[in-house]
Amino acid sequence: MEKKKIWLSSPHMGEHEIKFIQEAFDTNWISPVGPHINAFEVELAAYAKTGYCAALSSGTAAIHLALILLDVKRDDEVICSSFTFSGSCNPIAYLGAAPVFVDAEDQTWNMDPLLLEEAITHRIEKTGKKPKAIILVHLYGMPAKVNEIMSVARKHEIPVIEDAAEAIGSSYQGKMLGTFGDMGVYSFNGNKIITTSGGGALISNNQGWISKAKFLATQARDPAPHYEHTEIGYNYRLSNISAGIGRGQLMVLSERVTQRRNNFEFYRAAFGHHPGISFPAEPSGSFSNRWLTTMLINPEQCGGLDRESIRLALDAENIESRPLWKPMHLQPVFANCPAYVNGTSEKLFKDGLCLPSGSNLSQEELLRVVKVMKNKGLQ
Ligand SMILES: *Cc1c(COP(=O)(O)O)cnc(C)c1O
Repeated sequence: MEKKKIWLSSPHMGEHEIKFIQEAFDTNWISPVGPHINAFEVELAAYAKTGYCAALSSGTAAIHLALILLDVKRDDEVICSSFTFSGSCNPIAYLGAAPVFVDAEDQTWNMDPLLLEEAITHRIEKTGKKPKAIILVHLYGMPAKVNEIMSVARKHEIPVIEDAAEAIGSSYQGKMLGTFGDMGVYSFNGNKIITTSGGGALISNNQGWISKAKFLATQARDPAPHYEHTEIGYNYRLSNISAGIGRGQLMVLSERVTQRRNNFEFYRAAFGHHPGISFPAEPSGSFSNRWLTTMLINPEQCGGLDRESIRLALDAENIESRPLWKPMHLQPVFANCPAYVNGTSEKLFKDGLCLPSGSNLSQEELLRVVKVMKNKGLQ
């Protein structure tokens, strides 16, 4: 008989979501307007300790709107972390603008501040104009070197969009990720730390931007009894039902962070002593939600075992694991974009593996994962 599937990161509902959904049905607020949306926005802004929030249909939509609010247009350049998921940078292309990729540093695996400075200087030299925005990603929940990145960005007066899609609940020097840049983005996709089935949010202290985001997300409808439009709009609002799920998920977010961090500690206890295996450490002042537990496998110190052989061994036991994100500058679709690289993300992609990390994994399931890896030869 096939063993029960262990997923990389599956949705994990609490006890309150269904009550909020029931309430939406009982009151017939089923569409992308309704009281759960407003409440979710207020609660999310309070959680992040920021001013304002727009609940949207996805994290990608939030990045798209953030770029529009920063007036990114055709032929502008936007700098983005190369080591990320394509949702970070696809919206640059939606606008006909050009992504410029910047590689990671090897401590947090996020955008390298020195390389960022180099990229900005070089783009100005080459094109005669400044990149319009910087998309800073906090990958796997780990805070980037925020102070260093923000000081480079401020020096050149380039606005920063923080892609905290994987990093809700993470903080840097006591402040929530998503609140350092000019705007912050969260995702509530099914595999993220909390989910609304699909959804996202844009947060900012700038009230004007957030109300403009809500306007653009509802087809840019001007105030009039009929439908009047002076701008191109989008259908990017979150539904009232999804927002209800989000309200329930917010109530258990800190528990979910603890559960994910416990997974990380479990794997580190099992393999941390192995000379060929390493786990990313939290720099002092940084708090990671440990969305996914990631580890690096050095084949030379693991008897020739590489991350792919471990992945296949897990797969044979019906356990889902995954290589780290393939850097954007290596993606065929972005092959012609300028990229400032130092080898870090390429090495991480080669040697890195994401282990099953759901907050709903049982102790038995975690033990099953570890056992398969040990049996394969990671003693
Ligand atoms: C998931 C994710 C996104 C996109 O979020 P969606 O809600 O799936 O559109 C963007 N950036 C990163 C880093 C992500 O992990």
